[in-house]
Amino acid sequence: MEKIRTRYAPSPTGRMHVGNLRSALYEFLVAKHAGGDFILRIEDTDQERFVEGAVEIINDTLKLTGLTYDEGPDKDKGFGPYVQSERQKTGIYLKYAKELIDKKEAYYCFCTKERLDSLKTEIVEGKEITVYDKHCLSLSQEEIDANLAAGIPYVIRQNNPTEGTTTFHDELYGDITVENAELDDMILIKSDGFPTYNFANVVDDHTMNITHVVRGNEYLSSSPKYNRLYDAFGWKIPTYIHLPLITNEEHKKLSKRSGHASFEDLLEQGFLPEAVVNFIALLGWSPEDNKEIFTLDELIRDFDYRRVSKSPAVFDIVKLKWMNSEYIKAMDDDRFLEMAMPYVDAVIKKSLDKKKIAMLTKTRIEVFPDIEGHIDFFEAVPEYDVHMYEHKKMKTDIASSLTVLRDVVPVLEGVEDFTNDTLFATLSDYASSKEYKTGFVMWPIRTALSGKQMTPAGATEILEILGKEESLIRLQEAIKLLEANL
Ligand code: GLU
Repeated sequence: MEKIRTRYAPSPTGRMHVGNLRSALYEFLVAKHAGGDFILRIEDTDQERFVEGAVEIINDTLKLTGLTYDEGPDKDKGFGPYVQSERQKTGIYLKYAKELIDKKEAYYCFCTKERLDSLKTEIVEGKEITVYDKHCLSLSQEEIDANLAAGIPYVIRQNNPTEGTTTFHDELYGDITVENAELDDMILIKSDGFPTYNFANVVDDHTMNITHVVRGNEYLSSSPKYNRLYDAFGWKIPTYIHLPLITNEEHKKLSKRSGHASFEDLLEQGFLPEAVVNFIALLGWSPEDNKEIFTLDELIRDFDYRRVSKSPAVFDIVKLKWMNSEYIKAMDDDRFLEMAMPYVDAVIKKSLDKKKIAMLTKTRIEVFPDIEGHIDFFEAVPEYDVHMYEHKKMKTDIASSLTVLRDVVPVLEGVEDFTNDTLFATLSDYASSKEYKTGFVMWPIRTALSGKQMTPAGATEILEILGKEESLIRLQEAIKLLEANL
């Protein structure tokens, strides 16, 4: 059996869109599941769209996500170069384009911009496109030679038939047949001598022995033209797997405006690379069971592209947040602390046990930036509404809270060992001596210490972390507030 070879072929045009990362991941999984090779090829022939730094983004993303390639720009296994602008210098694309001209499957076109602008346009899939009228196909060899000798700028176009149909096969979409009349004579070599993406992609997939092409379904409509190229050369057509669209919650194409359309956006929002990979794996693919948390190795083991769906995949940020929180919970404490500390340091300036504070949030946050909102009260009690002391279930109100706080201040002053266990035992004793429920005592204390309805720790844990002195200051402040509102 032939060895499966897939490639990730990004164009370095900016941030790594979630759709591109999914293509990379699925390419990787298709190869690795079958023990094949995963190749990185940089498609930078569109010099106008090239963005400085975008290649670094691609490299960093593949590293962070663990999508290690077997071959690529810095790992030549005999199919290089792996960057199209470097391949172009070898003359490979022009050579193949000329071969097509000899076979009458392509032709020189010397049309000026003015002439092309005057051609009628058609709306195809919402985009205005100009269908070339094959004007230059009728040039004689003498005219072509004269134009070339005179240095008139030219492009090379594919020569598609105007009659009949072309059928191609996609693993997910099945057989798709299109009218040849709809296939425009796309440009293969541009006037700057660079190949178009469309042409270079086909030449490279063939010359790099790529067996499976996995990519977004926006390429579905171009695939018949690619197949005509393969056929014209007499090359074997790769297996196509076109992936469904990714939409936002409003079922519109996931775009920059969604705010989380790229891998970098997601990292900036505090998502973990491994959670993002796991989440993206499920944007279109689902396993046989309902398993949702996957390591990359488990994905390699379980991924079967036949189970990729054709219907659009919805980018559900709530699900991603849930998944991220699962990864955070499962993290070992050292790594968690390493990642959490910058967020704790940004908020806590007092000399408190920051590790302990950080650990309180481990099971409560969805993303690391959430930490701040959970722990800010340790630094200072925010302004809060005195009605927070009124709690139906705890049966507390302003008067009862005042009584409790006035009582517990001297009790706490007498506690030598200001630790959670001792504090809990002491306050429980106080509660039972008064025949109060524990919550009736703890609620006002926690409110006084934190000014918050929800805290990542109970009253006695907070007391321990704040220490005796700070705790008593906060309780006295609360007593003043309650007295003023009685
Ligand atoms: N360079 C193309 C892109 O970045 C590759 C598409 C393909 O995988 O064929 O979208």
